[in-house]
Amino acid sequence: MNIFSKFRFKKKYFAFFAIVPLLAVTAVISVPCPVCNGTGAVNSLPNTEMVSILEMDFEQTLGSGVPCGAYIVYKYNISIKLLNEASENAEGWLEILLINTRQEEGSNILDTQYVQINIPAEAVVTNEYNVSFGTVMVFQEGLEVRAEVVEGNVPDLICDGTGRISVNTWPLINGFKEHFSEVVQETQPYHPPEFIDWEEFMRNFFNQ
Ligand SMILES: [Zn+2]
Repeated sequence: MNIFSKFRFKKKYFAFFAIVPLLAVTAVISVPCPVCNGTGAVNSLPNTEMVSILEMDFEQTLGSGVPCGAYIVYKYNISIKLLNEASENAEGWLEILLINTRQEEGSNILDTQYVQINIPAEAVVTNEYNVSFGTVMVFQEGLEVRAEVVEGNVPDLICDGTGRISVNTWPLINGFKEHFSEVVQETQPYHPPEFIDWEEFMRNFFNQ
């Protein structure tokens, strides 16, 4: 009996002097977050990282100015051949850029528009888009259209976008990382940034 109570005391002793400081220490030690692999962001458009642009063609169909001269709207027919290497359907967005090739790289984007993609698993599709861009200046030449697949990165809620978690939560988060990843994707669906719909802009302008 005496020995038992002594043993109990020792266990409490151990708990206090070993486990409590251990928890305190582990709480300040951080490790890379397993849900976002330490990047702080999660792709909320699953499989789009497996989509690539194989070919692209574009043709300007119309450039028309608003009478007061504030905006020029350029219309393009764009044909894009896309490959989805994922074993599941890829649904997301393409970022379509109107570029002024006479300006320096990085400061040559005149307008950005977004179009949707939906590509079956392990398939190649060719999509046609009619895209309208708006700029404030007239360009006779040097215009080019480029496209990029949007990966739809949103901040990871699990690590609060920091890419790090405390080491004592790691076993739990790592054990359920697939589930957490789905939760983040579902609770924060990707939406493209606000952009002007130039078709609608022109329609409204001429209807006034
Ligand atoms: Zn994370």
